[in-house]
Amino acid sequence: MRPVPLRSTSPLILGAHLSIAGGLHKALLRAADLGCNALQIFTHSPVQWRVKPLIPEEIARFRETRASLGSIAVASHAGYLINLASPERALRERSIRMMIRELERCEALGVALLVFHPGAHMGGGEARGLRRVASSLRKIHASTAGFEVKTVVENTAGQGSNLGWRFEQIAHIIDLAGDASRLRVCFDTAHAFAAGYDLRNRGLYEEMWRQVEGLIGLKNIAIFHLNDATAVCGSLVDRHAHIGQGQIGQRPFGWILRDGRFARVMKVIETPKQAGMDRKNLALLRRLTRSPAIRGA
Ligand SMILES: [Zn+2]
Ligand SMILES: [Zn+2]
Repeated sequence: MRPVPLRSTSPLILGAHLSIAGGLHKALLRAADLGCNALQIFTHSPVQWRVKPLIPEEIARFRETRASLGSIAVASHAGYLINLASPERALRERSIRMMIRELERCEALGVALLVFHPGAHMGGGEARGLRRVASSLRKIHASTAGFEVKTVVENTAGQGSNLGWRFEQIAHIIDLAGDASRLRVCFDTAHAFAAGYDLRNRGLYEEMWRQVEGLIGLKNIAIFHLNDATAVCGSLVDRHAHIGQGQIGQRPFGWILRDGRFARVMKVIETPKQAGMDRKNLALLRRLTRSPAIRGA
């Protein structure tokens, strides 16, 4: 493994998951207002199956606004109802159709990444669940051949029967899904911590990346979700906290931000939406990127 440079000279690609209330392009304006050059959005309500098709004016407005703001990396997060691992065939097929629609929306908008959760096996068992996710992805990719947008598997907290909390599982999905050129990985700090990866310890932090490198390849991490975690390491509880205000603490965020291996990877926060807190969390992350000196970070 290459030695880790202490500080990176590359520009930081940092932003937040932001609301599309008032129109998709409004999320871009909100990002610009926060001084962000990265953004994650839902392209529709994430808790509904019904999705209104995008109209050409919406697409044009999004693309024009984006062009007017200069360089801004944009990812989309898929809806929460999708479960590609479901043992129920009807739900699985509905999920596949929804994922195809999500990818079509990203492609139309010029969004490079669609982040999704692998799904929950719902009692069907881990091995079968992982196979179902992979075979669903094969169908999704066959229906969207030639698309530029990458399908990005997010690591999960492992709550309930959710799959993808161990990196072995994510590697298995990618192997079985066939076309690796269509797939990338999203690393969520709160989920990894909840799943039992104790990033607070520098040795374990490095050990985790050695594992990820061996299983997935660090170059396949396309996006970070930077979130602190409310519950203890290994709790399998998915609850995000403000940066530095949860169990993870500030230091590991500084390590990731200053880790030269990830300098060009976009990073977004998905911290609780409380007044003024996005700005505060982003300011803290920018400070941690610049200086390892604050509070022993
Ligand atoms: Zn997610
Ligand atoms: Zn996340």
